[in-house]
Amino acid sequence: MKPAKFDYVSPSTVDAAVEALIAAKGEGKVLAGGQSLLPLLNFRMARPAVLIDLNGIKGLSYIEDRGDRIAVGALTRHRELERSPLIASRLPVMSAAMRHVAHLAIRNRGTIGGSLSHADPAAELPMLATFYEAGISVQGPAGRRTIASEEFFVDALTNCLQPEEIVVEVEFPILKHDGWAFEEVARRFGDFALASIAVSIRRGLSGLEAARIAVMGVADTPLRLRKAEEELLAMELDDQTPDRFSEIVLSQVSPNDDLHASAGYRRHLLGQLAKRALRTALAMKG
Ligand SMILES: Cc1cc2nc3c(=O)[nH]c(=O)nc-3n(C[C@H](O)[C@H](O)[C@H](O)COP(=O)(O)OP(=O)(O)OC[C@H]3O[C@@H](n4cnc5c(N)ncnc54)[C@H](O)[C@@H]3O)c2cc1C
Repeated sequence: MKPAKFDYVSPSTVDAAVEALIAAKGEGKVLAGGQSLLPLLNFRMARPAVLIDLNGIKGLSYIEDRGDRIAVGALTRHRELERSPLIASRLPVMSAAMRHVAHLAIRNRGTIGGSLSHADPAAELPMLATFYEAGISVQGPAGRRTIASEEFFVDALTNCLQPEEIVVEVEFPILKHDGWAFEEVARRFGDFALASIAVSIRRGLSGLEAARIAVMGVADTPLRLRKAEEELLAMELDDQTPDRFSEIVLSQVSPNDDLHASAGYRRHLLGQLAKRALRTALAMKG
């Protein structure tokens, strides 16, 4: 199919893009990589009166070291994150996850701002933003504000942006860890995840002193499993720890049946991935 008729504008600044959204009176949509929006237009599931193309705005694509955090511009492509040595050394969980994002052609065009805004519950970047406690900076008529990732994702394909706000930057705090893992199962490599988990741990004098756990594909948004983190820290570390950890993770999710998998199958996958992820993280030497 072909999209319904729309006007096209190509602003050269974020301010001008926000002005264009205001002028569109709720009928405008911003275009980034187009990898999710264009199929929606072609199927006429989205019918914006005005398409506001962000690709002409200079300075929105960068990966920057800010000491204790890494800043990523909203127009940064998935492929740049996948290939970045800075991401590999400072945000290794993200680096490992990026090759699971769709296929190469899509990674060449898709952007972090588009992926977060699209808010697919089985997409890697929303889950990584939740895992790293990213701050998502947005610009709108009232200026700039930063939204915590756990507030940003409201429901499946729903974020908390006001209609005239645009994502401009995402800051990922660097996690200090001794071990980490990212595990995912999709029906075919590059498909959206059926289930996925990211884990990081830091060792203390006895046992673990910090843990971070996030999952996706098992709820309408990515989930940070804070209770599982606390329970993992309280555990004795022995051969049975990954099995017990898997049970704790499963006690905190309740996926639904859908077109792609039954709830039971998603739970089964997540349980196996949780075991594997914790084993990998514990086996790392730091
Ligand atoms: C076949 C296929 C398989 C895929 N598989 C995966 C996968 O496995 N994992 C995965 O994570 N993704 C997957 N994707 C999605 C892909 O990652 C997209 O690139 C991403 O979801 C959207 O990014 P985009 O830059 O293309 O955004 P667009 O398609 O341009 O926009 C998506 C939405 O976000 C809005 N938007 C875009 N940028 C901004 C901004 N800066 N501020 C506010 N709103 C904005 C748009 O208005 C639109 O509503 C897949 C896509 C396809 C077509």
